This record gives sequence, structure tokens and C-alpha cells, in this order.
Amino acid sequence: MTRPARLLIVGPQGSGKGTQGVRIAEEFGIPVVSTGDVFRANVKDGTPLGLQVKAIIEAGDLVPDALTSEIVRDRLSQDDAASGFLLDGYPRNLGQVGDLATFLDGRGEGLDAVIELQVPRAESIDRLTRRAFEQGRTDDTEEVIANRLAIYETETAPILDVYREQGIVDAIDGIGSLDEITDRIIAALEARGLARRAAA
Ligand code: AMP
Repeated sequence: MTRPARLLIVGPQGSGKGTQGVRIAEEFGIPVVSTGDVFRANVKDGTPLGLQVKAIIEAGDLVPDALTSEIVRDRLSQDDAASGFLLDGYPRNLGQVGDLATFLDGRGEGLDAVIELQVPRAESIDRLTRRAFEQGRTDDTEEVIANRLAIYETETAPILDVYREQGIVDAIDGIGSLDEITDRIIAALEARGLARRAAA
């Protein structure tokens, strides 16, 4: 029986956390829970939630905590998340850190590790600008990118202090090939005794 891995990946927009999150989740046999993906899918499908959050996302602002935390609680309550999960993009501020802790405490759980993907600001901006051309994301315009990075620095970066105090943050250099970065993350998680599904 392997220990379930309950993971969070944090990094500025353009750090590659979405791509690495998917790879790590695959290695550990756990689902990715990405709030950005949930919101984008709802906007695309024109659901009531999508209509509610469309303008917020297009401005690069944060969706209200109560709504975001409710969506995450629902998702984490599904069967496939019982034996671990990888959160991408949530929590994104201190209020959400509190909401998540309350929810996980209630289940007698906690996060095992927080992967902090470190990428210099200039590199993030470069990657985001390139992605804007490739994927045509409406929140990848220059002005919105600047807003999202500013929110990351003021609201999201401080959540790392909380998790650092708990001793669960692994800072990973986000510069290198995709495989190199994935290997660095896996090594850090294995050093915590978290086993990959493939190695189980
Ligand atoms: P992402 O793909 O993670 O950058 O998310 C895209 C957008 O979805 C963000 O710019 C926010 O508008 C919204 N969003 C995603 N996750 C959250 C969250 N945890 N709290 C509030 N808003 C979020």
C-alpha cells in the first residue's frame, strides 16, 4: 500500500506548473485539480458558473474565495481524489489556504508537499507572451499578464510562507528541459517518502 500523495504545485503564471502538474500527477497516479481549467471549461460551455466568472478571468483578477473553495471541495470529495490529488492554481491567497486547511482537517488529512516552481519574472513574461500567440488565451494579453503576475506576487507568494513553516515546501528550479524539471520534482517528492505509482 503506497501512501497517497496530496500535492500542491505553485509558481508564477508561465512557470510551467500546468505542464509539470500533469506529468507529476501521472507519475503518482493521482488526479490534477486545476481551478483555472475548471473555470475555463465553464466559460467555454457557457454554464451559469462560466457566465459568472468570465469577466473576472478575462481581467486576470481572482474569482471570489467562497465560490472557488466550494468548487474545490466538491471536486476533492469525488472518489478519485480519495487516494491523493495534485492541486494546481488553488489555494491562491491566504483566505483559500484557510479554507483548504479547514476542509482537509475535517477529513483528518493535510498536504504532503508543496512544489514551488521557481522561474525569473522575465522568463515568465516571455513564456506567457509566446503562449498567447500559440493558444489564443484571452487572459494572455500584455496588460492582463502584468495584472496576473502582480496578483501572484502580492497574494499568492505569501501562501508559501505558511507552508514553509510547516516544512513541506520543495523549491524547484523551473529552468531546463521539461524532463529535467520533472525529474527534479520527482526526486524531491521521493525524498519525502512519497512513492510513484510506477515504483509501487
Ligand atoms: P490559471 O490557469 O491557474 O492561471 O487560472 C486562470 C484564471 O482563473 C485566473 O487568472 C483567475 O481569474 C481564475 N482562478 C484560477 N484559480 C483561482 C483561484 N484559486 N482563486 C481565484 N481565481 C482563480
